[in-house]
Amino acid sequence: MTSEHLNHGSMNLDSVAVHGGREDLQALGVHALPLDLSTTYPLPDIEHGGDSYESMALGGHPLPEGGSVYARLWNPTVARFESGLAQLEKAEAAVAFASGMAAMTAAILASKDKLKATANPATRPHVVAVRPLYGGTDHLLASGLLGVDATFCGEHEVAGAVREETVLIVLETPGNPTLDLVDISNVVAQAGDVPVLVDNTFATPVLQNPISLGAAMSLHSATKYIGGHGDAVGGVIACSEETAESLRRVRAITGATLHPHGAYLLHRGLATLPVRVRAQQESAVRVADWLERQPGVEKVHYPGSDGDPRGLLQHQMRGTGAMVSIGLTGGFAAAQRLTSAVRIFTHAVSLGGVDSLIQHPAALTHRPVAAEARPLPNLVRLSIGLECVEDLINDLAQALAPVSSSREEMAPGSETADPVRMAASDSTVR
Ligand SMILES: *Cc1c(COP(=O)(O)O)cnc(C)c1O
Repeated sequence: MTSEHLNHGSMNLDSVAVHGGREDLQALGVHALPLDLSTTYPLPDIEHGGDSYESMALGGHPLPEGGSVYARLWNPTVARFESGLAQLEKAEAAVAFASGMAAMTAAILASKDKLKATANPATRPHVVAVRPLYGGTDHLLASGLLGVDATFCGEHEVAGAVREETVLIVLETPGNPTLDLVDISNVVAQAGDVPVLVDNTFATPVLQNPISLGAAMSLHSATKYIGGHGDAVGGVIACSEETAESLRRVRAITGATLHPHGAYLLHRGLATLPVRVRAQQESAVRVADWLERQPGVEKVHYPGSDGDPRGLLQHQMRGTGAMVSIGLTGGFAAAQRLTSAVRIFTHAVSLGGVDSLIQHPAALTHRPVAAEARPLPNLVRLSIGLECVEDLINDLAQALAPVSSSREEMAPGSETADPVRMAASDSTVR
């Protein structure tokens, strides 16, 4: 479903979040989102069914006379979620996938097809990737698994890294896990005619709309803030209708479809997304501020904590978000103590849910990243949830408190030990 023919142009974000993608419910005579679990659909006749099949296999929509045919090609519950997300991202269309990584894979595969006719056919398609990135994305690109080569670089090195056969530029802002901000417009300017994909998982459409800044695709791991309750895995890409066609074609062929039950939960999550993000952000600002004053904390990574010298919080974002990372003075041992001492925070990967999570990126989410780009062993990432902020700060205070001398004595030299780096030296990344 595209958002072009919808008349939500005058609505504000909070209203679009509640109503987007639900335009056909009144005509259907229902109030809640209908959950269609059909794997197949009755065909009117061979000819019309076949024409609709062909339309969808090429990335188009089902034809009204032919129907949805088969659930790998189209599902109305998924299409409603896509429409709601597209409207929030101020994009023409959106395409949903089984996970954030399935979405990233489809974006890379769809871009491969765009290799310029002038490019040397003997060379592989090439992607430029601005680090830091989510560990899974870094791993996917570094592995070469999809038949594309990747150059990793910093924001200011993009123009120099683009080649004749470059088909895509990937960036993340705020970046996972250091919350570094990348100037989207700056990368778009360096990209020339190469499409730029922004992983918008951390900012959400509430705080940032990459399409409005010239990006071709805004990708979400919908597993995180979009769903917001830690009970649905999914991915989605907002883009133009033309790009959506190429993504739907890859989805139809490879089968990385989002299950309608997941789409139902993710769409339901959209309604509260602005309220959740704002409330979680309000607490994150206070947690980050409190952490700045703790002796056990060497550095707080939070958008704006460096004074925002380029004004990106003014020009690019509408807020600082609810993810905070900290570098601990006590090194890896302190990270180990903190993650096992928290009581309200859950020691778990993932982020963006109503409950607060804490995890160690170097050991977990960013384990597959090449050693030179892997997060430091003293870095811990917090996802601030909807609990009372005083309770969260009290929990961190008790977990950060110096350990008793008896425990200190039990682990001599543990401040410098770095088992993660040792274990990951034989990681699978080539
Ligand atoms: C989790 C995450 C992904 C991957 O999404 P999945 O839904 O886990 O496949 C991609 N990018 C970012 C920034 C993430 O946090």
